[in-house]
Amino acid sequence: MTGYHPHIITDNGTMKIRQVVNSIFNSCTYVLSKDGHSWLVDCGDVECILPFVEGQLDGVMLTHSHFDHIYGLNRVVELFPGTSIYTNMAGLEGLKSDKLNFSRYHETPFVLDAVDNVKIVHDGERIPLFGGVEAIAYYTPGHSPCCVTWMVEDALFTGDSFIPGVKTVTNFPHSDKILALKSETFIKNLTKDHHVYPGHAPITEE
Ligand SMILES: [Zn+2]
Repeated sequence: MTGYHPHIITDNGTMKIRQVVNSIFNSCTYVLSKDGHSWLVDCGDVECILPFVEGQLDGVMLTHSHFDHIYGLNRVVELFPGTSIYTNMAGLEGLKSDKLNFSRYHETPFVLDAVDNVKIVHDGERIPLFGGVEAIAYYTPGHSPCCVTWMVEDALFTGDSFIPGVKTVTNFPHSDKILALKSETFIKNLTKDHHVYPGHAPITEE
C-alpha cells in the first residue's frame, strides 16, 4: 500500500474532489462527489478510492485510455455494474486493445470487459454529473488521439495533455507534436480561471 496519498483537494460546497495517486506511474484518480453520487476521473488502484465513493458511482470520465489511467476499470464495473465510462472513439479503441493502451508491454495486459458501459463523448459535449453540475468534454489530442480534457465547474482535469511543469509526452506511436502544442495552448488559456488537476502527481521520495 505504498504510493497512496488520498486527500481532499477541494470541498467548495458544490462538490468534493479527492485525489488518489496510483501505484503505477503516479497516475492520478480523482473522485468527485456530491449528495450521495460520485464520479471518477480515470481509474487506477480501486480499493483505496472506495472509502471516498459516496453512494452510487455514476460514471468514469477518462482523460485517455493509456494503461496507467484505466487499469482499475474492470474491478470498478464489477463493484458498480451501472457505471458508465466516457471517452471518445479513439479512447474506446484503446480500451479494447492491450496494444493500443500499452498494457501488453507491462506486467498485466488489460482490456475492458464491459464495453457496453462505454459512452462516446463528442468535443464540447456536456454530461450532467450532479444536480446543477455538469462536465464539458474538450478533445485535446496530441499526447494521444484519445485525450479528453474535462471541465467541471472551476476544475480542469487535463490527464496527460497538460501537466504543469512537465513537457507533454509525444513520443508514443500515435502521438502528434503539433496537435499536442495546440491542445496545450487551448488548455493554458482555460487555466486563467480554472484549477488544473493533472494526470500524474510529481514523483516524491518517501
Ligand atoms: Zn498517457
